Amino acid sequence: MANILKKAAATLVDKMFNPATVLRVRAWESSPMHEIVIHAPTVAMEKWDSIKRFKCKVAELEYRDYTPAEWNAETRECTMYVETGHNGAGSRWAQNLQEGDDVLIGPAHAAPIPGREGKILCLGDGSALGHFLSLRQLTDSTVHPLQGCLLMHDAHEPIFQAKYPEFEFITPSLGNTIDTMEAWCRTITLSAFSSIYIAGNIPMVQSIRKKLKTIPQVHAKIHTHGFWS
Ligand SMILES: Cc1cc2nc3c(=O)[nH]c(=O)nc-3n(C[C@H](O)[C@H](O)[C@H](O)COP(=O)(O)OP(=O)(O)OC[C@H]3O[C@@H](n4cnc5c(N)ncnc54)[C@H](O)[C@@H]3O)c2cc1C
Repeated sequence: MANILKKAAATLVDKMFNPATVLRVRAWESSPMHEIVIHAPTVAMEKWDSIKRFKCKVAELEYRDYTPAEWNAETRECTMYVETGHNGAGSRWAQNLQEGDDVLIGPAHAAPIPGREGKILCLGDGSALGHFLSLRQLTDSTVHPLQGCLLMHDAHEPIFQAKYPEFEFITPSLGNTIDTMEAWCRTITLSAFSSIYIAGNIPMVQSIRKKLKTIPQVHAKIHTHGFWS
């Protein structure tokens, strides 16, 4: 009986999602990251004016949020970047996806774009890459020039670094993410930014925000988005 009810619930939930098809999957050479391109014909991407998240069905009654990082509203194709260096339902789902697979996604709002004009600073880990690329696509680089630092397990991904020179990829020294990020922040002029976005691991996001709040040169509005802990 419990199984029948569970199955009925799963079918009901599935009906609330949009169908999509996997077009391409690329595992990065060095970092544990999967780049997934999907075709989502029923998602009206042309209306997007804020950073979105896709609630993805990753297993029976299991859902995880992934960020549409880049998209083409005409073809309704969209890329997501999923960190896969750990053991979890979302990570396994991303690693097992293949071209032609059907997936279920539910688009929803994740974060606003900046209300003020001026430079944006993006600080986070690999799980926030999509969040920052989405911000990049949604804003005009002449009004909101963007600079970012991403902490990755192995920061070496040549194709990606060449494509997005505004982002620096850094491997934290001996797992000390906060000190590494703080040291990087000291190499830039923090007073030049009008908005700061911090996203990714929840304790990391909280610690970086706390550190920035103690620096007098920081006048930016700080947006924080914790993803996982
Ligand atoms: C709005 C929003 C947008 C998000 N966008 C993205 C995105 O674009 N890309 C992305 O990769 N994630 C993104 N996430 C996080 C994602 O939803 C999952 O939480 C994450 O992938 C972990 O799910 P899992 O099932 O693989 O692992 P879980 O079963 O949740 O966790 C298993 C274990 O792995 C650890 N873990 C989880 N994630 C990581 C990680 N990234 N690195 C190292 N260890 C980890 C956990 O601490 C835990 O010990 C987003 C989250 C939110 C809320």
